[in-house]
Amino acid sequence: MRILGIEGTAWAASAAVFETPDPAQVTDDDHVFIETDAYAPDSGGIHPREAAEHMGEAIPTVVETAIEHAHERATAGGTDERGTDSAPIDAVAFARGPGLGPCLRIVATAARAVAQRFDVPLVGVNHMVAHLEVGRHRSGFDSPVCLNASGANAHILGYRNGRYRVLGETMDTGVGNAIDKFTRHIGWSHPGGPKVEQHARDGEYHELPYVVKGMDFSFSGIMSAAKQAVDGVSASDASGGSSDEHGESDGGVPVDDVCRGMEETIFAMLTEVSERALSLTGADELVLGGGVGQNDRLQRMLGEMCEQRGATFYAPENRFLRDNAGMIAILGAKMYAAGDTIEIEDSQIDSNFRPDEVAVAWRGAEES
Ligand code: ATP
Repeated sequence: MRILGIEGTAWAASAAVFETPDPAQVTDDDHVFIETDAYAPDSGGIHPREAAEHMGEAIPTVVETAIEHAHERATAGGTDERGTDSAPIDAVAFARGPGLGPCLRIVATAARAVAQRFDVPLVGVNHMVAHLEVGRHRSGFDSPVCLNASGANAHILGYRNGRYRVLGETMDTGVGNAIDKFTRHIGWSHPGGPKVEQHARDGEYHELPYVVKGMDFSFSGIMSAAKQAVDGVSASDASGGSSDEHGESDGGVPVDDVCRGMEETIFAMLTEVSERALSLTGADELVLGGGVGQNDRLQRMLGEMCEQRGATFYAPENRFLRDNAGMIAILGAKMYAAGDTIEIEDSQIDSNFRPDEVAVAWRGAEES
């Protein structure tokens, strides 16, 4: 089976080819090719109109590159050899949401066009479920709790009765977006997460508000406190501040210390709720998904927590953590194998597509 995946919910215009003899498990013959063209704003954060312009320019190229790759696999040494005249793929999977509407529409249009060109079925994938299924797939875990720590989202999910249930989530902004808002405030370029990780290594812990309510978390208060700390102002006198990319602050708490405090605080919150979800569900496996999951400190905190309670932790490689079409193709293959395809007329996008709206057909198919 060979599936083309297309991702484009925000910054990553990405296409992938996933080839496997069995989409239910990782095999030695699996092959994942990913081609991504990333949008990098000149200044500020992700601007929806600019992101859509980038998507419109980049998607045709990354998709054609992936199709060429699929043709090469089909004619030379793939798991199923086909002639050059037949379709090089079995289905087209695309990210249907959640994400920025103008970007999603471009991806859906491209996916429909490719499906029609090769006369193959279309699979509509939930981007958040793909973030967690790629970890479940590659770990071989059966029924893990999943922590999704991405730019626009933060969820803890557990599977029960045919759906991924949201056990806990952010009450305001996504975790990566919160970090990026802080780095934007101090004048650092997007994305801020990797820079915070780098600066936190040299910092001393600076205390910030820790906000967990039940199974949910909030990041907006931490961000305000972090901005005020670098600005050297009290909560009642907040104003802008600045720092250069080397972490020199022009007043207040050193930027490196605030970065360290942010990492320790936010990741401790995510770890606490993950632990509670393991305890509530009785699961003994945890997988990580999303771009913030690339952070080494977060991975170590989750790993140590799992070790202490006798659970197993898995974080996929970075190329599968940040937005990427590989995860869309991998989940697309599972859905295609379970017969979970859609007609073109039913393939509208859903910019608020929640993970618990997805009826999970593929897990039953894997077990049977
Ligand atoms: P979503 O998947 O919710 O749509 P997204 O489209 O923003 O989110 P992701 O690739 O999942 O994309 O995550 C991007 C986020 O990851 C950005 O906010 C970025 O700052 C953050 N990030 C990237 N690397 C790191 C890191 N090493 N540490 C912390 N955060 C990071």
